[in-house]
Amino acid sequence: MNDPKEYIKDLSYNTKDVFFNDDLDKINLDKIIENEYKNTFEILDKLDIIKYIKDNYKINYKEPELEILEYIPIIIGGYSRSKNKIIFSKKSIESLIDEQLEFFGYKEIKRSTNDTQGIKYLNMSFNSIFLYPFCINRNIREAIAESIIRSKMLHERWHSFDYMILDKLEKDSTIKDRDYLLTILNNHDNLELRASAFEVVDYLVNGFYKHEKGLAAAYSNIPTCREFIDKLERKEDIYTYVPYDLGFCYGNTVVAANRSSLKENIYNIIDDIIHLDKERVINVIKHYGDNSDKLLHD
Ligand SMILES: [Zn+2]
Repeated sequence: MNDPKEYIKDLSYNTKDVFFNDDLDKINLDKIIENEYKNTFEILDKLDIIKYIKDNYKINYKEPELEILEYIPIIIGGYSRSKNKIIFSKKSIESLIDEQLEFFGYKEIKRSTNDTQGIKYLNMSFNSIFLYPFCINRNIREAIAESIIRSKMLHERWHSFDYMILDKLEKDSTIKDRDYLLTILNNHDNLELRASAFEVVDYLVNGFYKHEKGLAAAYSNIPTCREFIDKLERKEDIYTYVPYDLGFCYGNTVVAANRSSLKENIYNIIDDIIHLDKERVINVIKHYGDNSDKLLHD
């Protein structure tokens, strides 16, 4: 494999692409959300992730239901523990797509039928701005919608795992590492960063990790992540809730450390995320590069 760093220079060419006007037409968001609900289940099922968590953490897994709403202020999607339901807000997704299109400059795009050539990057903005690979091999608005919804759906699905593990831990004192897991799972910040870390890993393991251009996003995000941790420690320029940045950054370090072995190491990574808390995330990002072989939880 070529050095993914070589491809980072491609990232700056995003804005040189051009769009066809018909790509900016309305899309069927209900259909895309429903498809991604099924698709993310299949991604997890194909990798046996649901079975792995069920068997190893003895959860009583129930597939969350999906509810699509016109508008919920601020959020793209959410997970309700009491209803075991994943909820999506269409208007918020539309606004995020518009934001991304604005970044691309509403120009004409060179469409590609080849997945690797078609990899471009969304600018996902939390406290810092990070790159997220996605594939343009069809309507640009649809491609952006699919990417945003898929990553968010994976995030919400992880919340369902965490709450099912928490339910089990509360009832069963025989689970390994019970006290430790109960402590970290009862901290809401940890729940958000774990879901964000999983979202990145599972989004990339579904294809992108095999391509230099997919990995390049992880490599280019890591310096931004280290800067973010510096700022966090100096307590400056932090505007919003930080666990999303932290989890996103942790996911990128896992992808960069595992590279082409991401898929074969997936169960270690799942165990690692199940044992993940804020302190370890900060530590790993801070020292990434000094000790990159030892990212995983033993
Ligand atoms: Zn969340």
